[in-house]
Amino acid sequence: MSRIRRACELAGREPRDIVLVAVSKTFPADDIRAAHAAGQRDFGESYVQEALAKMDALAGLELTWHFIGPIQSNKTRDIAARFHWVHSIDRLKVAERLAAQRPAGRAPLQALIQVNVSGEATKSGVAPDALAPLAHAVAALPNLRLRGLMAIPEPTEDMALARARFESVRALKERLCAEGLALDTLSMGMTADLEAAIAAGATMVRVGTAIFGERRTTQ
Ligand SMILES: *Cc1c(COP(=O)(O)O)cnc(C)c1O
Repeated sequence: MSRIRRACELAGREPRDIVLVAVSKTFPADDIRAAHAAGQRDFGESYVQEALAKMDALAGLELTWHFIGPIQSNKTRDIAARFHWVHSIDRLKVAERLAAQRPAGRAPLQALIQVNVSGEATKSGVAPDALAPLAHAVAALPNLRLRGLMAIPEPTEDMALARARFESVRALKERLCAEGLALDTLSMGMTADLEAAIAAGATMVRVGTAIFGERRTTQ
């Protein structure tokens, strides 16, 4: 995506240091197949049943699947069994279930904790002041590998504010690293704000609309 290249130029960063997760929720398997043919490998999904159907339809392709939606406890088994990454851990109970349910012999599930950096504006994610104990507990679980943080700041036209929110996520990650956790991933930035996120240090951007077009259903 040319926007990622341009944002990297402005930020003095290398495009290869940023993973583009193509958010394919609500789009059919054929759209994923077309993106794969164009070289895209990482795909993000928010609804488990919908994702499983697409995984089955695309079973022959080498794809990396990211679960990015809210995690219901009764969906952890499918997430643990079928996804490579999960971005939206926000409580220990869910992380424990994912760890217990990751099938033996699979690589560890690559895990991110979702942080609520906009206070009341969004409900998902752990509050910043509750992050450290959760992160240390998740990092100690077997079958999961805690890689970093994910955040979805409140939508804003104000790119300086967006960047400040993203900088605060980066600061949280750096503090956890100083406490001894080996974190290398910041999943932040979507169609509307990926430039601000890259300027603030994102290593993964999750982009739907700019790749697949407008979603018909908003959920
Ligand atoms: C839908 C979604 C995206 C993609 O949003 P766009 O604005 O279409 O790029 C990114 N992250 C999460 C968690 C989402 O649910």
